[in-house]
Amino acid sequence: LYVEQPLGEGQPVPLDKAQVHYLFGVMRQSAGGALLVFNGRDGEWLATIEEAGKRGGLLRCVERTRALQMPPDLWLMFAPIKKARTDFIVEKAAEMGARRIVPVMTEFTNSGRVQRERLQAHAVEAAEQCGGTFVPEVAEAVRLDRLLDRWDGARRIMFCDEARVGETHGLPHISGDAGPWAILIGPEGGFSESERARLERMDCAHVVSLGPRILRADTAAVAAMTLWQQALGD
Ligand code: SAM
Repeated sequence: LYVEQPLGEGQPVPLDKAQVHYLFGVMRQSAGGALLVFNGRDGEWLATIEEAGKRGGLLRCVERTRALQMPPDLWLMFAPIKKARTDFIVEKAAEMGARRIVPVMTEFTNSGRVQRERLQAHAVEAAEQCGGTFVPEVAEAVRLDRLLDRWDGARRIMFCDEARVGETHGLPHISGDAGPWAILIGPEGGFSESERARLERMDCAHVVSLGPRILRADTAAVAAMTLWQQALGD
């Protein structure tokens, strides 16, 4: 179970309404029972259920069962698309161990406002279901040009460019190159010529083909993370 409170030996963890409903209504847990909790910072803890009421509940941490497992320093930056597909991208990025998820508004991005809190809740659910101890932060949506204006070149960009479709994928030249990375995936309409030209001028950006076909943005995000992990581990 994901909780927001700090976790530590003997630490009380009051439950909110949604957690009470889930634990006692859906999962049929009751006082005296035990469960595993994490908050994305303090590892995973065994907690006992001290109070299980209709409107409230209280857990108490007993012992740490796993240390925090930080994933490698990989960000997934993607142009938001339709709601369900954007949800899919966030869920898969959290499952696959992205450290940060950044919605970027590119020139051809059509989607409207990004609901950051809803996406963050998807990231939490994904971390819960895959037994992770870490939850990636979903950042506020940012314009690609502004993001690149203040880009720290120490973080390399795996720029997935649909214009490179059909080329052999460009991962060999990033193999073994540890350090912070960010994957960049474009919207349905792909990147504009000026975005492409700008990224190609950046020393820290590495243009990558994802193979012989143009993939949907959500497929591309999963494929890119898989290829990155294969080249750089974890
Ligand atoms: N029209 C489709 C859609 O509606 O989803 C295709 C979208 S594709 C243009 C979206 C993004 O996926 C691209 O901007 C790029 O980042 C990535 N992508 C898809 N296929 C790719 C490929 N073969 N090589 C590199 N990147 C690719």
